[in-house]
Amino acid sequence: MNFSGYFFEEISDKEVFQAITDELHRQQNQIELIASENFVSKEVLSALGCVMTNKYAEGYSGRRYYGGCKYVDVAENIAIERLCKLFNCKFANVQPHSGAQANLSAFYALAKPGDRVLGMELAMGGHLTHGASPTISGKWFESIGYGVDKNGFIDYDQVKSLALKFGPKIIVAGASSYSRRIDFQKFRKIADLVGAYLVADIAHYAGLIVTGLYPSPMDCAHIVTSTTHKTLRGPRGGVIMTNDESIAKKVNSAVFPGVQGGPQMHSIAAKAVAFGEALRPDFKMYAQHVLNNSIAMSNHLKKLGLNIVSGGTDSHLFVVDLTPLSITGKIAETELEEAGITCNKNAIPFDTLPPSKTSGIRIGSAAMTTRGLKEKEFLRIADLIFKVLSNYAKSGYDAIKAEVREESLNLCKKFPIYG
Ligand SMILES: *Cc1c(COP(=O)(O)O)cnc(C)c1O
Repeated sequence: MNFSGYFFEEISDKEVFQAITDELHRQQNQIELIASENFVSKEVLSALGCVMTNKYAEGYSGRRYYGGCKYVDVAENIAIERLCKLFNCKFANVQPHSGAQANLSAFYALAKPGDRVLGMELAMGGHLTHGASPTISGKWFESIGYGVDKNGFIDYDQVKSLALKFGPKIIVAGASSYSRRIDFQKFRKIADLVGAYLVADIAHYAGLIVTGLYPSPMDCAHIVTSTTHKTLRGPRGGVIMTNDESIAKKVNSAVFPGVQGGPQMHSIAAKAVAFGEALRPDFKMYAQHVLNNSIAMSNHLKKLGLNIVSGGTDSHLFVVDLTPLSITGKIAETELEEAGITCNKNAIPFDTLPPSKTSGIRIGSAAMTTRGLKEKEFLRIADLIFKVLSNYAKSGYDAIKAEVREESLNLCKKFPIYG
């Protein structure tokens, strides 16, 4: 067993390690197009499985509630320093266990239960944590949702009129299935108009932002939150950034002791390693390929006759509207998985189907670009997707699906990961 950087002579827990091995093989042999996923480096994996998981370190570097924090302090300081350099910001908190925790902490730092939060609606491309009713953000705050216009672009006039009408405490700019550039400056102008804080959640775009391929909200948002595991290609986790010292203090108290207990120091060490990788020139090349591959693939699917929400993409992801094929996102997700291609069903704006079915799928290029695929291979994957979906339930379909499964597997073998 060597995929986590450690070599074991013998593994006693056969059950769990079998599941881990099976998952490794699944990742090696499937074309991974889930827009929120990526493959971390072996060094990041090693840091994640390191002895820092044993250490309690409540508090912050130099101000801990436990002894023995000398070396975890080093790791956390490096993570903060590198993150600030990546995003050109003054203050960073690298302790949030996830993107959801980062957002909850940001809300906790800036607002009180009952305050109003204006965020992008889930069904329009926003994230659960931006005010959706089943989440704490929707239960503790009075949440108001904005959306996109009929062309699939954020409707800034609507954002402005909702802000003027409801006077939110926080406006959230950020999304999970919005492929276009977000005009963070426009959001800030609207926030200033009504005296709201602007929280920018760049969970998806972080890797493109640090390489200058997507606009940065760092100079105009009061708080920027992000995950570390999507295009940034780090371990699963969250971060919070700001340039305002008094907000930074509130954020630190909100993360600990507000929302979390002890930080996961192994994860923070792995974040530090990933941030170091993102600072290197080859990460810039990686991000450029991510963008090129996404644009090439969405254009090709369009040429094949599918609709792309908003007509294209400026990022690593895009949403395919499947209505021309009369097939649901749910069916597409299942059928593609059986053909060796993993993606997820996704609502399209103004979808008439429920979230359990949806009329679309979301596709992202970040993970397969890590494996070294270029435009040529992404165009081929687009062909394979179209082959499966356009032949669904027609005669000879099972043979076609098996053919695609074979070709997906061969493509994966040509671009190995964790070999
Ligand atoms: C993925 C995502 C999150 C949540 O991240 P988790 O680590 O899954 O909690 C938050 N906001 C946005 C915009 C996201 O896309």
